[in-house]
Amino acid sequence: MNRTDTQEPAISNTENHGIGLASDTSAPCSKRTPSASEATDYYFCQAADVLGVPTWLRSLLLIPKREVTVRIPVEMDNGSIETFVGYRVQHNNFRGPMKGGLRYHPEVNLDEVRSLASLMTWKTAVVNIPYGGAKGGVCVQPSHLTTKEMERLTRSFVDGIHDIIGPDSDIPAPDMGTTHEVMAWFRNQWEKYHGFNPAVITGKPVEEYGAKGREEATGRGVGILALKLLRRLNIRPQDCRVAIQGFGNVGSHAAKFLSESMFPIVAVSDVSGCYFNPRGLDVAALLRHALANRSLEGFAECDRLPANELLSLECDLLIPAALGGVISENNVSSVRARTIIEAANSPIHPEAHRRLTEGGITILPDILANSGGVTVSYFEWVQNLQHYSWSLDRIRQELDHKLSEAFESVWQESIAKSLDLRTAAYTVGIGRVQRAAELAGFRA
Ligand code: NAD
Repeated sequence: MNRTDTQEPAISNTENHGIGLASDTSAPCSKRTPSASEATDYYFCQAADVLGVPTWLRSLLLIPKREVTVRIPVEMDNGSIETFVGYRVQHNNFRGPMKGGLRYHPEVNLDEVRSLASLMTWKTAVVNIPYGGAKGGVCVQPSHLTTKEMERLTRSFVDGIHDIIGPDSDIPAPDMGTTHEVMAWFRNQWEKYHGFNPAVITGKPVEEYGAKGREEATGRGVGILALKLLRRLNIRPQDCRVAIQGFGNVGSHAAKFLSESMFPIVAVSDVSGCYFNPRGLDVAALLRHALANRSLEGFAECDRLPANELLSLECDLLIPAALGGVISENNVSSVRARTIIEAANSPIHPEAHRRLTEGGITILPDILANSGGVTVSYFEWVQNLQHYSWSLDRIRQELDHKLSEAFESVWQESIAKSLDLRTAAYTVGIGRVQRAAELAGFRA
């Protein structure tokens, strides 16, 4: 196909999720608090303005390729049937098969999944791995389900979406509320329809074709990038007090890496509260406690504050590693960090981002900061396709190499074009997807 027309059909606000693409490229978002996908689209449009991306191409790059909503009937342990709702949004495949996690959380909805799928497109492009973007999720509170119910939920979800998933089309992975066990159930159920192919999903258990180092990868990547950023900012690790919101997969591994790199971790939080010691927490003890109790609840070797107070603690590096939208125009004035690394997806609303950057706070954006996870997922997929397993040392080295390259390209872009790091990351990512679109024949 060789497309040369500029006649991408004009789209209404309803069709384009309210981002005002068709007519107004300079003011893509309204002033009210944006939804998750509006916030992501806003960041996209800011960078697209810098690049001068025409309106027809913005529509092509922003509107998801496909969105699927499925009902998920599950037999509960007491014999009753409960029906859940699941989503898979396939955002863009210009650079390769679509890639993105599966989230199990009570606040999962189509708008959020759409936003996260779009972030994956820009993230895989920034870190320069041959993928597009996708995301999925189920609206469910995982802690309310038994292990057997979680397994039946996962298998029933696969029944609903298996025919749009595949190693060359769309490859899921873990995200909030999903574990390597969930990935193993997913693969097993998918293979009942399509036959053996472990490359269909990443984040699997190591003994089931998973990659060594995948579980630590996102948090470790946050730590690697923190070292690179702070070196540029001339802040020494031992002078950098760190506060981390969220102590799940990402937050706990980031805490481990950073404390082993001599950073004092002064506060961590999870749903149970904020655990604080201005002289530095014993991270090894926190990790042991969290492993034994699946929560920080009951950890007594430090001060305890309400969970949401972590965001307003005075620190040098704040790492939101839990939910999206936690720093908004409502609480941004209470943030007292010098730098922020977005380990979570979309933790900062656009207006809050504007005020923080204007206040001189450096923010390393999610599409770069948490890209270590998808990078090692890519290594897992490569190993599965080759039926060959890499050592942990090789995986860590290649991760460091990929993240260093991505960090340098974003840092240099921000200097060359006088952009904040978020806009620079988006311009790098959008530029690569735009080039792939051109090579696919989409040229004006
Ligand atoms: P997780 O489910 O393992 O952990 C989430 C943590 O956040 C838990 O400790 C939970 O108690 C805590 N939390 C929830 N609500 C909170 C609140 N109000 N205050 C404080 N803590 C709270 O999830 P995860 O895999 O660590 O993912 C965390 C974030 O990182 C998400 O935004 C996810 O999209 C993003 N992310 C994850 C990966 C990955 O590989 N897991 C990759 C890229 C991005």
